[in-house]
Amino acid sequence: MYTLKILGFLIYLLVNISAVVSVSGSKSYVCPTHCTCTNEEIVCQEKDTMSYIPDIRSSSVTEVVIENQRDLLEINETSLQYLLRLEKLTIVNCKVKKITPRAFYGNRNLHFIDLQNNDIDRLSWEPFDGLNISQLILNGNNVPCTCESKWLQLMIEHNKVSDSLKCTLPSGSGSEMFLKDADITELDEQCDLPVLKVEPQKITINETESVTMRCEVVGNVIPTPYLEWDLDHIKSDYSVSDDGSVQKLTFNNATGSDNGLIECSASNVVGKVTKGVELTINSAPRILELREPYAYFHHCFFFNFTGTPLPSIKWYLNGVLLDIPWTTDPDFNENDDHLYLAMIKPDSTHEFTGCLYIQIPTHYNNGNYTLVLKNLLGSVNATVYGRFSENPDPVNPPPPPNANKTAVTILAPGPTKDVTVYVAVVVSVMITMFVVAAMIICGVRYFRRKRRRPTSAINGYASHPLNTVSLTMSANGDVLAKRTAVPVDRLQMVENPNYFKKMHQQDSKRTPVIRHMKRETIHFIRELGEGAFGRVYLGRCDNLTESDETTLVAVKTLKDSSIGDARRDFEREAELLTNLQHNNIVTFYGVCIEGDPLLMVFEYMENGDLNNYLRSRGPDAQYLSKIVTTDAVLHSAKLLFIAVQIASGMVYLASQHFVHRDMATRNCLVGDKLVVKIGDFGMSRDIYSTDYYRVGGQTMLPVRWMPPESVLYRKFTIESDVWSFGVVLWEIFEYGKQPWYELSNHEVIEYIKNGTLLDCPAACYEHREIYTIMLGCWHRQPTKRLPIREIRDTLKKACEDCPGYVNLFST
Ligand code: AMP
Repeated sequence: MYTLKILGFLIYLLVNISAVVSVSGSKSYVCPTHCTCTNEEIVCQEKDTMSYIPDIRSSSVTEVVIENQRDLLEINETSLQYLLRLEKLTIVNCKVKKITPRAFYGNRNLHFIDLQNNDIDRLSWEPFDGLNISQLILNGNNVPCTCESKWLQLMIEHNKVSDSLKCTLPSGSGSEMFLKDADITELDEQCDLPVLKVEPQKITINETESVTMRCEVVGNVIPTPYLEWDLDHIKSDYSVSDDGSVQKLTFNNATGSDNGLIECSASNVVGKVTKGVELTINSAPRILELREPYAYFHHCFFFNFTGTPLPSIKWYLNGVLLDIPWTTDPDFNENDDHLYLAMIKPDSTHEFTGCLYIQIPTHYNNGNYTLVLKNLLGSVNATVYGRFSENPDPVNPPPPPNANKTAVTILAPGPTKDVTVYVAVVVSVMITMFVVAAMIICGVRYFRRKRRRPTSAINGYASHPLNTVSLTMSANGDVLAKRTAVPVDRLQMVENPNYFKKMHQQDSKRTPVIRHMKRETIHFIRELGEGAFGRVYLGRCDNLTESDETTLVAVKTLKDSSIGDARRDFEREAELLTNLQHNNIVTFYGVCIEGDPLLMVFEYMENGDLNNYLRSRGPDAQYLSKIVTTDAVLHSAKLLFIAVQIASGMVYLASQHFVHRDMATRNCLVGDKLVVKIGDFGMSRDIYSTDYYRVGGQTMLPVRWMPPESVLYRKFTIESDVWSFGVVLWEIFEYGKQPWYELSNHEVIEYIKNGTLLDCPAACYEHREIYTIMLGCWHRQPTKRLPIREIRDTLKKACEDCPGYVNLFST
């Protein structure tokens, strides 16, 4: 306990000291010596102070200026690799001679490049391939008036290179002329861009059929081009035959996923030309995914399908056809008057994602939702149960919604007999009003509750009496927090609506029973730590498993169980925990509710919480941990192994539609052999209270882990958990550092609002793909964030490919 307090104090000191050290404003990377830096810009003008471009690792820098460096000779693929957001590069009055073909490979936003007054005498188009160049300045170099500079001549024609650029004549006299006026074909005999022909240009086939496409260089082009089909993403079984200037590509067994443009390119020193075959592969519809509804802006049945031509889409509720308007309009605004709305949008050339939105549903909308897709090659259907709320009064159900308020028409399938079902819009409004009134009455009582969980609810639970309270609380959390007299040491958190939801349907069918344990079977050994809601002990439990007489367990105690609804909350959490069963979720054994204190019994994870574990095995371990471990600093394979396990736990939580809302390393536990499990479902700890931001009264938000939509609108979704996972990944590769440790909570909020992202951790420099995953988690648009399953798979592969992976299992 004291150790933890001292550690907490040290961390506090460290955070504050580092805040003082970052005097250079808000930048969070190391500014190279002899340069001046801001968050966005690095300027190095001090004469002859560098012989290579300094290794700058920042995702916020957009401009680099380097001047007057006579020892700077080359720009290569490592020079700027960590400046993922670089837009403008100025390297002038230096001696740069060589720019390698992949020099700007990591700088996809680079558009302005000023390389005046260097020693460049050969420059290929390759480093600039794929960049959307607005200005390339090369004056004051030695570009030759030969075929190699023909591409620059073409750039001058497109106003991307200045027409004052001069080239050196090959005569050896050193004489110059304007490149725009040089007749390169005369000087260099033949020098042209390849001319390319693909055949057929358009073709439609059915899945499993074969097709052959030709790509051919027309005429006798010199320099001879290199021909290539882009086959990177092709899933069909294919073969390529090459006879010099013609390449034939044959799909032997076409699959629908190769629908779209199949490209062929020809390149020579003058440049690259690409042409494509528009290939349409007709395929029967396939439903790749249909999820139970989750609340984002509205409740959404998310679905994902393929099929060409675009299948017709029909939805049935309990076998009755729903007449739903649907759209593919990308600017579609779901804030419409309809109860149901379906939207689909192309995900790729062959995949579509969509949502069946339901606005303010009630228990009348509960039922089996069937999606039916049909096109000329076939049809397919899938059903999922939508459960929005309980019938508020199952014994005396309220009368059906007002028959005069027509909102949607449901048609019976087959020979149509129209049945009109009226939606309870008015009833919903009344319920909401009732709820607001109930909230005022319940507010005081609510805040007497002992246990609070982080952050607010999102819209969509309004029709559930309990959820309604959480919804209203979230919207007004600050105000209520002020109104309520809560002991200062209590965390004021708003309910996580997951606690009200039944778990995934399959699991609720199983409905595991909470195991009740006798107090005399639990023996306390020592204290492990203190959570916000009670102490945690290492204990021994008799006859817990069939194989062992005694099992080591972690026992969480609930202090003051007599206060408010603590007991009910306790039982509810026990029910939730009983339902969550996965290898990467800490095992919940059961409860003891005889007498006080109430106890929850968990699997014992001998290495404690992950944050502490990382800190005590990181490069600063000696300053942070009193317990000196003999373990070496965790290497990349181990860090990745940790990350994969958390991602696996999150894939499971997402499959259960459980939004965690507080994913952070402090909420994960480490067991033997580096087993990592998600171990805390929404409670912060005293020791980590600096990780939470107190908004309004006592509401605590883990802002450093939260995406903009959660910070600004208190929206928590599977996608906001993905953002938090990106931060968890950052914590792992920073060995438990606090995200944005150099900033105050208030500054962090500003950064998040402005879209500033955490920098690439040093331990990821060798694994840039890991930082790419982080960036994929931190997309501002939640729907564009990487799906957690994909993250897990990518991390798993990276882990398996990592040197040191094989040794993990002897850990
Ligand atoms: P919590 O109440 O979950 O915040 O936990 C407080 C402290 O108890 C943490 O610092 C953990 O290190 C420790 N702890 C919690 N659960 C376990 C467990 N299952 N096994 C081992 N230590 C635990």
